[in-house]
Amino acid sequence: MVQSKVPHRRTIAAVYRYAPVIVLEENLMKTKSALLIVDVQVDFCEGGSLAVPEADTIIPVLNRYIKLFTREQFPVFASRDWHPHQAKHFQQQGGQWPHHCVQDTEGAQFHPHLKLPTGAVILSKGTAPDEDSYSAFQTVDSRGKEFNSLLKKAGVKTLFVGGLATDFCVRWSVVDALTFGYTVELLQDAIKGVNIKSRDSEQAIQEMVRLGARTTTLEKATKMFAGLKKA
Ligand SMILES: [Zn+2]
Repeated sequence: MVQSKVPHRRTIAAVYRYAPVIVLEENLMKTKSALLIVDVQVDFCEGGSLAVPEADTIIPVLNRYIKLFTREQFPVFASRDWHPHQAKHFQQQGGQWPHHCVQDTEGAQFHPHLKLPTGAVILSKGTAPDEDSYSAFQTVDSRGKEFNSLLKKAGVKTLFVGGLATDFCVRWSVVDALTFGYTVELLQDAIKGVNIKSRDSEQAIQEMVRLGARTTTLEKATKMFAGLKKA
């Protein structure tokens, strides 16, 4: 009876033959990543109504991240401010900001140099007059599905976050992602901040890291994904 518990040699060989495949699939499942590009819209870039300094410089870098994620068949999400003409978010209605990213205007479009893939999921926030949303976790897709439920459905565990602005929408998106239990990789080379006070972005990054965010670069991410394949 004891002997029968010892697997036949052929069975062992079969297990070994299939093991690498199983390990690879498990690794991919465990580490499934998604890219979140926050608010790279015309109004937040050079010449826009609420331009973030040097915003345009991150667009080519984001395009390279997009290529990397597309190649790995990982989902790409792009959030956008999508405000009604009148909103409490705007100075005219007592809010903090000049008019920006008003629904269906040119300023609300994604920057024309940003190369979003066909399958990118567009997430909208700030769509109601009384909404003052900053986080991508306050967005919905075109069918009204919340970002968090979309990530869960896709089995995403790690969220790579880049875009605009470091000290507002990137910051709040990262804080929420950490609260929801995601591993966060902040794209150090693909974020820019408003810096109402000169050290706002620097302090926002320190805060995100203190709360558990990791920081990465295109080079590091490329190596990370190459490592996934070899696992
Ligand atoms: Zn806004």
